[in-house]
Amino acid sequence: MTDSATALGIDVGGTNLRIAEIDAAGRILSRHAERVTNGRDAFSNRLAELVATHRSPNVAAIGIGIPGRVDAAAGLVLSAGYLDIGGLPLAGWLGTATRLPVVVENDCSMALIGECAVGAARGAENVVMFTIGTGIGGAIIQGGRPLHGHATAGQLGHITVRPGGERCNCGRQGCVETTSSGTSLGRLIREAGLATDTTVQGLFARSDAGDDVATAVLRAWAEPMRDAATSMAAAFDPDLVVFGGGLGGAMVRALGRLPPETSWYNYDIRPAALGDDAGIIGGGLWALASLRRGKAPQASLPAFAAEAGHLPVFNPQP
Ligand SMILES: [Zn+2]
Repeated sequence: MTDSATALGIDVGGTNLRIAEIDAAGRILSRHAERVTNGRDAFSNRLAELVATHRSPNVAAIGIGIPGRVDAAAGLVLSAGYLDIGGLPLAGWLGTATRLPVVVENDCSMALIGECAVGAARGAENVVMFTIGTGIGGAIIQGGRPLHGHATAGQLGHITVRPGGERCNCGRQGCVETTSSGTSLGRLIREAGLATDTTVQGLFARSDAGDDVATAVLRAWAEPMRDAATSMAAAFDPDLVVFGGGLGGAMVRALGRLPPETSWYNYDIRPAALGDDAGIIGGGLWALASLRRGKAPQASLPAFAAEAGHLPVFNPQP
């Protein structure tokens, strides 16, 4: 691998697929987005076509984020939400088709890798991330590497915050996804009797003007999220907790307005900084990091940051 080596970062969403060529400093050299192609064969074939089209001579590896449960060590997609690609041995298949090394992670893990390298969590090596959109996703970076557990750790939308609460898609009740997602915010707005087209910015504006109903909706949305984030802080003692997804910035703002809570657990919160680019940047950088280590599961984020020569390395205080 040479200094000019680049990687293709691919971010597969439920609706759109993004592919970009990323250099070792996390810069986007070229990019393309399109509607995602569903179904195992159609998805795989389209992916190989896209790689062939967007691959420059410098591309040395591929990193793919999948919106669902991934066995990263095996390069296997276990399930991918609305996409029917469960069971696809993606790393092996695409690696054979393109003759490039391929790493596969959950999409939120790839986004967090991007944020740790060049975004909101730049230089940190222990970070928890929640992505707030239609549902709630999550990822954990510990010691500069995504935490996988047995295979699929980081399903942070399914932390129980309201025992006996609303039924969740996962089969349990009172998960934070049922209280603090975008879907939940829409429900809270309806239940409060506000216009159904009320936006979160509208809620902040009304709250600033002294509207108690809007203030109560924001509080009901953010308070369970704080419970989930504090539980993660108790479990993982992160350098910071990042909130991404379409509503990540709004959640940080809403959390900042909650009445203070005293506990043993203090942690920094920050909105994600890279927006929709986090996944492609993280995918590309993680593929390059994995190349440097020679074997994907042993690559670590701070090591690649130091070797890249452009990125600061986080030095925890003794
Ligand atoms: Zn759940």
